[in-house]
Amino acid sequence: MKGMIMMKRNGMRLLALLLCALLLTGCTGRENAPGEPEATLLPAASAAGAEKTTGYGWYFDTLVTLTLYGADENAINDALAACARYEQLLSKTVEGSDVWRINHAGGQPVTVDPETWEILRRAKEISAATEGAFSITIAPISAMWDFTGGTNRMPTDEARLAALPLVDDSVILLGEGCTVTVPAGVQVDLGGIAKGYIADQLAAMLAPRCMGAIISLGGNTYVVGDKPDGSYNTVGVQDPFAATGQLEGVLVCKNVSVVTSGTYERGFAGADGQWYHHILDPKNGLPAETDLVNATLVMTSSMTADALATAFIVVGSDRALALAQQMGVDALFITQDGRTLTTDGFVEKYGYMTYEAFIAR
Ligand code: ADP
Ligand code: MG
Repeated sequence: MKGMIMMKRNGMRLLALLLCALLLTGCTGRENAPGEPEATLLPAASAAGAEKTTGYGWYFDTLVTLTLYGADENAINDALAACARYEQLLSKTVEGSDVWRINHAGGQPVTVDPETWEILRRAKEISAATEGAFSITIAPISAMWDFTGGTNRMPTDEARLAALPLVDDSVILLGEGCTVTVPAGVQVDLGGIAKGYIADQLAAMLAPRCMGAIISLGGNTYVVGDKPDGSYNTVGVQDPFAATGQLEGVLVCKNVSVVTSGTYERGFAGADGQWYHHILDPKNGLPAETDLVNATLVMTSSMTADALATAFIVVGSDRALALAQQMGVDALFITQDGRTLTTDGFVEKYGYMTYEAFIAR
């Protein structure tokens, strides 16, 4: 992959991500965005003259960046506390979390938090809608890979093939009273959907407590309200062929989430020189062979966008475009050979322009 920069999870990466997050939230000063989506989280007051506060945290293996305008003094701390709580609930590696208990139940029913239950319900729906391209039961196989820890671990063909029959979201049984039952051996991994859910919850929680906010959890950004001067918010689409923070293009939006999944950020170059990325094809348990390097979705539900972006990478450009079009989802895709594809009306709706055009305007 040309110009691929592999970032390690260390201070440099954190700094780069931080710079990226700051870059991604510039302001265009445009008067209006044509065909802007319905405001669902619009705070009542104008954000003019509002004080800006920022907060950072490291959760879900991801830098969380909060930028709030006119927020009450506890808003940042409350939001970061919510992140900590969701990590305790949803991480598969935190012993005693809901997901950990499901994965270690040996076929027995487990009672989970209503929020966990709701995420599982939605994950199953999206799995069905994408014919399994999105499958949270990828867990036994995703656990065999190490894409970010530096060990570059990968499964043997034997181990991978033996675990494949365990990948099937339809076997997850959701019962009364928030019970979850999976057959012994089946495990779930919410890495492809949890950050979207959390972005939605943070947006809903912060909207009434501030005049505007940019909530960023790695590839999930939620834009709440306006900038203090009344101008619109811009969100950058990462250039998949350049260093973190360098943008391919810029879109304008508010009260929606912009979610990106990519094959370039988390992964490693194998001894064979091949790039092994973290989005797996549930059909074979290998990094998805796809012509897409970036799928960027704009939706009011960050959770749905998160899961669909992952699925769209798996299915490749033709099916991804067809599915997005059919589902009425606004999407932009960047292909391995450098083409940008969008669903109908995307460019007009979000005033999408290349980064060069944006800085030259
Ligand atoms: P990120 O977490 O970097 O934003 P994604 O939203 O695309 O990226 O989610 C990728 C994560 O989801 C992986 O790290 C893994 O935990 C999980 N995953 C990988 N492949 C799939 C898949 N096909 N379906 C569902 N989850 C997946
Ligand atoms: Mg995802």
